[in-house]
Amino acid sequence: MTQTSVQTTHYIPTDLPTSIRHFIGGEFVDSVGGETFDVLDPVSNQTYATAAAGQQADIDLAVAAAKEAFDNGPWPRMLPRARARVLHRIADAVEAQDARLAELETFDTGLPITQALGQAQRAAENFRFFADLIVAQIDDTYKVPGRQINYVNRKPVGVAGLITPWNTPFMLESWKLAPALASGCTVVLKPAEFTPLSASLWAEIFRTAGVPDGVFNLVNGIGEEAGDALVKHPDVPLISFTGETTTGQTIYRNCAANLKGMSMELGGKSPAVVFADADLDAAIDSTLFGVFSLNGERCTASSRILVERSVYDDFCARYAARAQSIVVGDPHDPKTEVGALVHPEHYAKVMSYVEIGKTEGRLLAGGGRPANLSEGNYVSPTVFADVAPTARIFQEEIFGPVVAITPFDTDAEALELANGVKYGLAAYIWTTDLTRAHNFSQAVDAGMVWLNSHNVRDLRTPFGGVKASGLGHEGGYRSIDFYTDSQAVHITLAPVHTPRFGGN
Ligand code: NAD
Repeated sequence: MTQTSVQTTHYIPTDLPTSIRHFIGGEFVDSVGGETFDVLDPVSNQTYATAAAGQQADIDLAVAAAKEAFDNGPWPRMLPRARARVLHRIADAVEAQDARLAELETFDTGLPITQALGQAQRAAENFRFFADLIVAQIDDTYKVPGRQINYVNRKPVGVAGLITPWNTPFMLESWKLAPALASGCTVVLKPAEFTPLSASLWAEIFRTAGVPDGVFNLVNGIGEEAGDALVKHPDVPLISFTGETTTGQTIYRNCAANLKGMSMELGGKSPAVVFADADLDAAIDSTLFGVFSLNGERCTASSRILVERSVYDDFCARYAARAQSIVVGDPHDPKTEVGALVHPEHYAKVMSYVEIGKTEGRLLAGGGRPANLSEGNYVSPTVFADVAPTARIFQEEIFGPVVAITPFDTDAEALELANGVKYGLAAYIWTTDLTRAHNFSQAVDAGMVWLNSHNVRDLRTPFGGVKASGLGHEGGYRSIDFYTDSQAVHITLAPVHTPRFGGN
């Protein structure tokens, strides 16, 4: 099968740093003990920089700086409007350098440049959204006539530990940084070790926008070292984590000792369910984008497509033809639709699933590396049909450009297939029958459902998964709720009946 592709040139951005450092208490610093790790780019798989590898001592310094800024600095005490102005300046700065951000992100992650640009703009929007939200924040007051008034005193929780993955790193960091900072928390960010480049840009963006020293701290490093130390630190009362389900389980256990607040955005194996009455052209466009955008390294990817049998053959043939025409290649080329996977280890994992798929399904497109791309982590968009629900490629998150298509005969069977995995992040329902649309949406095990669409989100809506896809929901006020404590203050307006113990 011949894949459409563009040649790679190994584009290297100008002024690429060769060392990536921590940012603690307003200063760029190396690890206390000098530890580093290598950072590769996914087109050459050569080391282009070394990054400081944070250890316990570095986390201790970062948490101490964040705690000092929280306990004694101005940030948690500022009026919401004043914090919002800073957040808008952050958004302005991100927008002003979106092309540079996208260039660096593409170089570090292998994401296609047009998609990386969209993610940079989304990062700016996240800051604008939470800036507006805190200014409009209202809290509850409860009246018990003649007896009590009770009100909610919303308080930032403290030092927030933010741990993020390597897919769309800058945007996903913004999804945690913006509400944490908007709420008045101070933060320690531990970005993913595969992709530390763009995170180091936050430091200058925040400083220029007027974020006081110590409010934002960045510690690079390996998950089991820097991430683990952050999770276990007693002065970090809450952890917001996005990443794999198994990592989330480890962090969950490690948070238990200190009973930390946790937000967990984990893996997915989301179904797109295509009924025969759907607009098939739109469903094909949408499910192609849904699984192959962001190189398939997308938590909400519609990586299982369930298709009603009467349109199944037609759907599969048209879907596979389009998949073969997807342009794979140089991530920096604006024509590219699928770039290079993030890292050789992840490439090997995805390729192993491609081989497993050949024993579990009927290969319709892709199935390996594009013929003319001999280097770099390139995988042809790969389509398997007739995949049984017991297959590993049906059950397990691959996190690459690989999709499994399965037929169904009835609504009940479609629902059983859709819900028959351990994950429950998103679901995409394709039908023109209004009653079926609502009934199916409400019955499917998914934190988020889209009808006749791929993932297009209003930032006010809940974001998160059920089952093994996560704990808690972010988005809108839910994020603010996570980073703040709702203290109840009870005001007594009349004498309270008090049983007089010992007074007889
Ligand atoms: P990962 O779990 O390997 O790593 C995520 C982060 O956790 C990294 O920063 C890593 O260094 C850190 N980490 C690893 N072990 C740790 C430990 N023991 N203690 C503390 N921190 C630790 O995930 P990944 O491979 O970077 O990302 C891909 C995964 O993320 C996929 O499963 C994807 O579905 C998921 N994801 C979910 C969402 C969502 O919103 N639900 C969004 C994006 C990605």
